[in-house]
Amino acid sequence: MSNPDIEQLRARVSGGVITPGDAGYDEARRVYNAMIDRRPAVIVRCASAADVAAAVDFARENGLALAVRGGGHSVPGFGTVDDGVVADLSGMRAVTVDPAKRTARAEGGATWGDFNEATAAFGLATTGGIISTTGVAGLTLGGGIGYLARGFGLSCDNLISAEIVTADGKMVTASEDEHADLFWAIRGGGGNFGVATALEFRLHPVKEIYGGPMFFAMKDAESVLRYYREFIAEAPEQFGGFPAFQIAPPLPFIPVERHGETFLAFIACWAGPVDEGEQILKPLHDVAEVVAEHVGPMPYPALNSAFDALVPAGLQHYWKANFVRELTDDAIAAHLVHGPKVPAVNSTVHIYPINGACHRVAADATAFAYRDATFAPVIAGMWPDPSQNDANIKWVRDYYAATAPLSEEGGYINFMAGDDQDRIKANYRGNYPRLVDVKRRYDADNLFRVNQNIKP
Ligand SMILES: Cc1cc2nc3c(=O)[nH]c(=O)nc-3n(C[C@H](O)[C@H](O)[C@H](O)COP(=O)(O)OP(=O)(O)OC[C@H]3O[C@@H](n4cnc5c(N)ncnc54)[C@H](O)[C@@H]3O)c2cc1C
Repeated sequence: MSNPDIEQLRARVSGGVITPGDAGYDEARRVYNAMIDRRPAVIVRCASAADVAAAVDFARENGLALAVRGGGHSVPGFGTVDDGVVADLSGMRAVTVDPAKRTARAEGGATWGDFNEATAAFGLATTGGIISTTGVAGLTLGGGIGYLARGFGLSCDNLISAEIVTADGKMVTASEDEHADLFWAIRGGGGNFGVATALEFRLHPVKEIYGGPMFFAMKDAESVLRYYREFIAEAPEQFGGFPAFQIAPPLPFIPVERHGETFLAFIACWAGPVDEGEQILKPLHDVAEVVAEHVGPMPYPALNSAFDALVPAGLQHYWKANFVRELTDDAIAAHLVHGPKVPAVNSTVHIYPINGACHRVAADATAFAYRDATFAPVIAGMWPDPSQNDANIKWVRDYYAATAPLSEEGGYINFMAGDDQDRIKANYRGNYPRLVDVKRRYDADNLFRVNQNIKP
């Protein structure tokens, strides 16, 4: 890569090009997980699809690795790469809503906060992540699990089309009617097939929800988990809550003397008629004493940003995950051994439900293969102090070692760690050969390899 090449790139890109030594390089190379400390050769601050194509062409022509960054939340740090090119879409965050058609178009760097704010103005929403700072593109391309998944399916199930810059630098639209094979692959296949410069979603009427967090003492955790297992099998699909092992943060609704205690929290989200919410949640209240809660009617984006402060950018991250079909007594017992040892207030274990509408999509209809899994648990290690890395990583690994044998072989790619590459095939089950085939046709040289990689 010569200087004239860089100068040509600078001339082609409207958003800006940053190289080592430029002002702002250290800021520009930083990603959400502070454990990741990589030094890209070039960071392209994309302002348009044309800028994205310029970054893709530059990486390909110079034989450099290419990382694609949307919201920057990838735990393994796939939004950056040593000595390669970063296509940073974080400046492309516009979201436009068509309320008549009930659709929204989000640029490739939009976050769920951007998305929810735009759609909530019309009383509309689609399935998105539970933290507002996560990227729409990264989350959706891997599948997309959130409060509304039981009712409306995964985020990728709500994708109508995507504008993609492919490895050859061309811009294509992928939908059921155009590049249908690519459209199939990007719904679960992650960033393996190109850069999504815009994604178009189906929206649903969701205005206020009834929900929020409840905290149960650890002595009641087993009863709550057993209740959850039964309840979620039959619960109305507008219900999208999940249990969590969680140290109580110093929040005003939690008694001061219990701050710092580890609880079995339950985060509820009832997206049906708000006046039915109290009744829906009553049985959960009857399972055991609720020590503290902050439950009631609230705008959907309020719940979607309620936990942002617990997970600011700059923490250390190490996560593991498996899908689960049945939460057996043995699995609950394993959770009860390791969940109460959650070592930091930022860390958590969520046992997300992915039944309901997610199950109505055939396993081979999109790349996301685990359509018979009922739960997507995640062991999310997040802590501020790098000197505590060994202890926190050990907690995640011990927890995972205990629960993995009681789970499916595959895990949700967006929750998997950087050392999980050998599990990619298991994640896609019978869809893997078709994914390899699509990869060969769209990215035979594996330009898009800084991800949970499907090798051509
Ligand atoms: C705090 C936190 C909360 C989370 N909550 C949820 C949740 O509720 N539900 C859930 O399903 N997941 C959740 N996740 C996981 C999340 O889905 C993944 O980390 C996802 O990869 C993040 O996408 P991003 O755009 O923010 O990340 P980035 O680091 O920017 O991107 C990650 C990868 O996604 C791909 N990618 C990103 N943008 C594009 C694009 N425009 N075009 C093509 N490929 C792209 C690339 O392969 C990239 O390497 C959470 C993660 C964190 C850290």
